[in-house]
Amino acid sequence: MKDIRTLSLEQLTDYFLSIGEKPFRAKQVYDWLWSKNLHSIDEMTNISKNLREKIAQEYTINPVSVDLLQKSADGTIKNGVKLHDGLLVESVLIPTETRTTACVSSQVGCSLNCEFCATARLKRMRNLEVAEIVDQVALIDRQSKLYFDRPLSNIVFMGMGEPMMNYKNVVEAIRKITQPEGLGMSPRRITVSTSGIPKMIKMLADEEVKVKLALSLHSAIEEKRNDIMPFSEKFPLTDIMEALQYWYSKTGSPVTFEYCVWGGINDTEEDIKALIKYCRKVPSKVNIIQYNPIGEGKFDHRSTKAEERYVSELTKAGITVMVRKSRGGDIDAACGQLANKSAE
Ligand code: SAH
Repeated sequence: MKDIRTLSLEQLTDYFLSIGEKPFRAKQVYDWLWSKNLHSIDEMTNISKNLREKIAQEYTINPVSVDLLQKSADGTIKNGVKLHDGLLVESVLIPTETRTTACVSSQVGCSLNCEFCATARLKRMRNLEVAEIVDQVALIDRQSKLYFDRPLSNIVFMGMGEPMMNYKNVVEAIRKITQPEGLGMSPRRITVSTSGIPKMIKMLADEEVKVKLALSLHSAIEEKRNDIMPFSEKFPLTDIMEALQYWYSKTGSPVTFEYCVWGGINDTEEDIKALIKYCRKVPSKVNIIQYNPIGEGKFDHRSTKAEERYVSELTKAGITVMVRKSRGGDIDAACGQLANKSAE
């Protein structure tokens, strides 16, 4: 049976007209589905029982469900989220003093092959549906209210998958999350993180809905980046920069570069200089992300000394830089640790 959440408002309206119902029914149902995140046709209380039964004969709702909930000592909550076909993704709630951030997945597995990322070890199984992305957000919003007494404030597409490789559904989910008839969240509080696919960055820049953009850089030296993120051979750093400049010209929103520092890999003066040179080409800031070991030996040498050098030299060069502490490490919820156990 078809999931009613695959229908647009127009399609819902056509459906109600086709069964001799008033078009406003579509708006009512849409509101239950996308604003209230209701998962049962039978609970749509402003629709008559007869009509609810009629709808349920034709359509179903495939909600996601929490398969496993783990809490970290630092408050981070990791959800193993089960999809209707039994596959699992992970969605993480990250609380700080002032905000709650949802880290959501866009794909089951990932087709990219970043050597330092746990998700990359799984093959890409499939793209998430629009509703499966929105469900993760609604789920974490409920958890935020339940455990922290406040609504979700931010969303980052930094879970499993490459959002730009599931572009259509990610953008439609963002529309549903931000539109007043949906969850009504501010697009300024949503960050899409990408490994860098120039064409898609430009496409996102042209969308009406204006989100923030983060780029996983890790090295501004072409050969080095290709070594640790092999897929990037297809996307030279100059093409990525051109797309980022386009992004800034269209959105006025500075880019965040995500960067891990690994001893013996990108800890030299030359690495820092290359990063500074690259950053200067577009309004941007740098987030140094603490690496979370995934048992891939060559990345395991954390160098706080090198991190400090990055911070001091970037700052001297006038570039904003933050060191992002890792969260949820004790429950494998940290970046790159979101491996789908069922698929291993
Ligand atoms: N595919 C997207 C989003 C998912 S990864 C992207 O590449 O941006 C989210 C962030 O976590 C990226 O910056 C990624 O480079 C980083 N990351 C991946 N594995 C990590 C690890 N083991 N430790 C720290 N950060 C990691």
